[in-house]
Amino acid sequence: KPSMSEGTGLSVQTESAGSQTSIKVIVRLRPQNQNEMQSNHKTVVKVVDDKMLIFDPKEEQNPFFYHGVAQKGRDLLKKQNKELQFIFDKIFDVTSDNNDVFEGSTKDLICNLLDGYNCSVFAYGATGAGKTHTMLGNGDDPGITYRTVAELFSEIEKQSEQREFNLGVTYLEIYNENVQDLLHKSGPLHLRDDGRCGVIVAGLKIITIQNAEELLTLLAKGNKNRTQHPTDANEESSRSHAVFQVYINITNRLDGQVRQVKLSMIDLAGSERASATGCKGARFKEGANINKSLLALGNCINKLADGAKHITYRDSKLTRLLKDSLGGNCQTVMIANITSSSFSYEDTYNTLRYANRAKKIKTHIKKNILSCELHVTAYIKMVEEQKKEINYL
Ligand code: ADP
Ligand code: MG
Repeated sequence: KPSMSEGTGLSVQTESAGSQTSIKVIVRLRPQNQNEMQSNHKTVVKVVDDKMLIFDPKEEQNPFFYHGVAQKGRDLLKKQNKELQFIFDKIFDVTSDNNDVFEGSTKDLICNLLDGYNCSVFAYGATGAGKTHTMLGNGDDPGITYRTVAELFSEIEKQSEQREFNLGVTYLEIYNENVQDLLHKSGPLHLRDDGRCGVIVAGLKIITIQNAEELLTLLAKGNKNRTQHPTDANEESSRSHAVFQVYINITNRLDGQVRQVKLSMIDLAGSERASATGCKGARFKEGANINKSLLALGNCINKLADGAKHITYRDSKLTRLLKDSLGGNCQTVMIANITSSSFSYEDTYNTLRYANRAKKIKTHIKKNILSCELHVTAYIKMVEEQKKEINYL
């Protein structure tokens, strides 16, 4: 029986037939907070329906906006609005909770995952835009990581007669290009290119779990070990990436075939740093602090969207780890988090443009099979059984 040994990916092969699929791009608009509401900033996002939004809409709906402005001035003001229309796979407005987001984003991934396809979800957006709220949530409204794993267990329960499941989880953080295990005290971990398995994190502890509740305990433990607690809006946590992964070995009880699949849920660092190079003024000075991994992720997304042949995954720890999720054998969902306050005008604009580019990325998904030898063993077993049957006749 294949085991989930520490720090390894097992020899995963794929079936030859596969299909192309686009990254699913979802936008989530969070409600304005007290500060934003009180400061009476303009609203720069208009959600038209569950697939379309307008960034920086014209203000004609407000009759007082042009009050006292001459026609010439009004025309000028109108021109100043970008009035950009964006279309995404799904848009969640301020009325949506984490369950709505789960139902409309990751719930459908579970069937694909158990069918043998790798799946990834990542939350993108500026600090304070709602990434951690979406991924981890809180006691009243658990995030999509918990909900997705709960769904996974409920599906496993249904299939347990035909298949055996072995689950292991890992939780790591990338901070200042250092990889750290969040579930097990360790020094910085190194990434290794393993010819057959792709990139592995040497020494990363895989912890087995039996139900979704155990996951909550692990997530809480991991979050405590983060460079800064992710729910504190502070410098450190907004610069680290949290990568949570579930490895599943699925053994078909009938033919003994084993598949190994991987679900990755990623809470990315605040994207305001990725766009900082393009900014002037105060932000520009932060240049030295720009997150190398996030910048590399942006470059990869741009290149993948352009259909470039050479993608620079090797530029950062994050892109090395996510190589699969971006250009490889994986079904990927990106959740772009934004707020509508004009206070975050640049960040929201950049996030929307980034998400819009990600729509163009196609991944090539194939079902994973764990190892050829096992496949053959199972086949021999089947033949033996059929021989016995024939002898009986
Ligand atoms: P990020 O991880 O992107 O920096 P957070 O998820 O920490 O942002 O969100 C910042 C603040 O806004 C938190 O206090 C969080 O609880 C709140 N928040 C974010 N999204 C929502 C939402 N959809 N509904 C209610 N509160 C939210
Ligand atoms: Mg956060």
